[in-house]
Amino acid sequence: MIDLYIYGRKTNSIFEMLGTKENDISYAIGLGFSKVPVFLDLFLKYIEINVSFNSELIKIKLQEYERGKGFTDFEINQEGEFSIIIMATKCINCGENIIGRTDKKFCCDQCRYGYNNKMKRQSEKLIIDINKTLRKNRKILKQFNPEGKTTIRTEYLEKLDFDFRYFTHTFTTKNNNEYRFCYEYGYLKIDDEKTLIVNWQPYMES
Ligand SMILES: [Zn+2]
Repeated sequence: MIDLYIYGRKTNSIFEMLGTKENDISYAIGLGFSKVPVFLDLFLKYIEINVSFNSELIKIKLQEYERGKGFTDFEINQEGEFSIIIMATKCINCGENIIGRTDKKFCCDQCRYGYNNKMKRQSEKLIIDINKTLRKNRKILKQFNPEGKTTIRTEYLEKLDFDFRYFTHTFTTKNNNEYRFCYEYGYLKIDDEKTLIVNWQPYMES
């Protein structure tokens, strides 16, 4: 790697150059590409655009507005071969600076793999947690409802940490009362203090 110094400070990231003159940096690099095709050819290989390079057919268009959080945008196209938008961003897994197509999100395959796994684990955990809550809610309703229909004080449910946010399905009566069920046990808040607990009945299917 060739060392680059700015005011005596070693610099290796475009982010260390970005101030309020991002467009100026785009113009300078765009000019560099247009005057030194081998520079552009190497850059395209660096960002994994493998095409048969022909500088006669290439057009570089610079975006003159800031996108999102102020990235420097570049559009490069070669007639009949490719058209890409380049930008500087950060790897969404490790934060490493990257330059590439707008759809490039990761600095390496390891980060892509790691990030996708992390997301998968998080959504699996969410499902497990919600299932646990629903089972707990069901258990609480069941324990209060040995007869099939019981009215209790709502605070009893609250004391046992019944989680009113989660239920599996609902049943609405003709009078527009909405019963909320946790599997086969359901409840209806009668008023501020009382809750009716019921069992699921076959006629509720329809
Ligand atoms: Zn990374």
